Amino acid sequence: MQTKYIVILGSLLSGLGKGGVTGSICKILGFYNYKALPVKFDGYLNYDCGTMNPYRHGEVFVLDDKSEVDMDFGMYERFINIDLKGNLSITGGKLFSKVIAKERRGDYLGEDVQIIPHLTNEILNMIKNISNSEKPDVLVIEVGGTVGDIENSYFIEAMRQLALTEKVVFVDLTYVPKLDVVGEQKTKPAQIGVRSLMQLGIQPDFVICRSNEVIGKKAKEKIALFSSISKDRVIDDSDKGTVYNLPLHFMGQRFDKLLMEDLQLRTRKINRKKLNEWSRMVDRVSSPRKRINIAIVGKYTDLKDSYVSVKEALIHAGAQNNVMVDFNWIESTALEGHDLHALENADGILVPGGFGVRGTEGMINAIRYARENKVPYLGLCFGMQLMVVEYARNACMLKNATSSEFDKKARYKVIEIMESQRDLKEKGGNMRLGAWTARLRKGTHAYEAYKSTTISERHRHRYEVNNRYRSILEKNGLVVSGTTPNNHIVEITEWKDSFGIGTQAHPELKSRLERPAPLFLEFIKHAAARA
Ligand code: GLN
Repeated sequence: MQTKYIVILGSLLSGLGKGGVTGSICKILGFYNYKALPVKFDGYLNYDCGTMNPYRHGEVFVLDDKSEVDMDFGMYERFINIDLKGNLSITGGKLFSKVIAKERRGDYLGEDVQIIPHLTNEILNMIKNISNSEKPDVLVIEVGGTVGDIENSYFIEAMRQLALTEKVVFVDLTYVPKLDVVGEQKTKPAQIGVRSLMQLGIQPDFVICRSNEVIGKKAKEKIALFSSISKDRVIDDSDKGTVYNLPLHFMGQRFDKLLMEDLQLRTRKINRKKLNEWSRMVDRVSSPRKRINIAIVGKYTDLKDSYVSVKEALIHAGAQNNVMVDFNWIESTALEGHDLHALENADGILVPGGFGVRGTEGMINAIRYARENKVPYLGLCFGMQLMVVEYARNACMLKNATSSEFDKKARYKVIEIMESQRDLKEKGGNMRLGAWTARLRKGTHAYEAYKSTTISERHRHRYEVNNRYRSILEKNGLVVSGTTPNNHIVEITEWKDSFGIGTQAHPELKSRLERPAPLFLEFIKHAAARA
């Protein structure tokens, strides 16, 4: 079957949840056994997300194939439960470098190289290449940013052109505010947004309305009129508790039927088993249960998007363990002194990934507190490295032990830069990235969690446990429960006397509602038992 296209645009403001809409649409088509794949356009000129600040841009997501991509890919994977590839991420950086390389090679000899047609043609080429190689029934393309941004203008123009030759359905995501004073939903911003889209030559087939309350009949009619669509094509996306409910909420409005009609997809019988399974899990996430308190001690806790996969992985594991996770975000610098009372109510403590020295003493204090008070602990990448530092200092008596990331001249560098990283001159895309296999030792918490001796998780780091200290650490009771198959790199460490586990990987990046990350499940199990 020839690939068809759905293009998701935002016409008013960003942050409305285009990623959730894109993931939901892929999921819905999946319920009908259609192969739908997401594609993301990002206008920034970074080649990939790896060089961006998580505090500004949100978490850097990593795929199996080593690509560092936008956090929306996490959202997509959590919905559709498929391991995606980096070619689905098309950034301004990738695009411009491709066109300029072609220009230097002489591919456009004699021509003025321009945004239209050269850049737009390149976008169309990339899209066609994805269609040819992945052979999806539908590509669901999310255009990052908002209509009117200079950065994404050429992507939008390319999508207008795509519709000249291919079957394309346009979906606009907008916002409908309610003013307290008048107590009425206001549609003018949505109207203006749609108009700006139409000025670019794009007629939306659907307008999805984000709002705090269900979109009222009057507002719907107005938006439909100004958008030149029937009112059943104005779709409600009001706050619904869990984002995982969105596919079901959309289907309740016949969005699935209309979409398939528009795409001229043969109506297939819905896969009841898949649908029921999903509904069951959504119920589980949203039904009230015993609550547990998980302290997350990190440096970017002000911007929740910096740890979005960690948060979702905890939600997945909580649902499976029949508990509701209360998130206790703690900025690690607040724990640098002696006052650790912020940790008092914690049933579990987690230190996520991170870079640089700021805030690390607070994280180390939190880890020591967890170990001494037998509070279940989970350390992710940085959180594992600091678990080793804490153990070296306080259980092996290696005074001021640290990581060479913080102090190159320190005496006991129990965490050291990896050999392969030492002489790298450039920064982009060259950490130890993507999926790597590890071997687990039987009889450990790690094995208990994974129930397998061979596992694969995603990575993103430059430092590792310094093998010169491995025997001292082990002699003093730290368990090395996972290593790379050749035993060169420590992958997982754990405590003997209580549940505390650190992993060099980022298991949160592979956690999905339908398949929670094993280490998170085990961590939450122990935290729930303590609560
Ligand atoms: N900064 C550490 C390293 O580079 C940890 C990285 C991380 O947590 N992703 O190894």
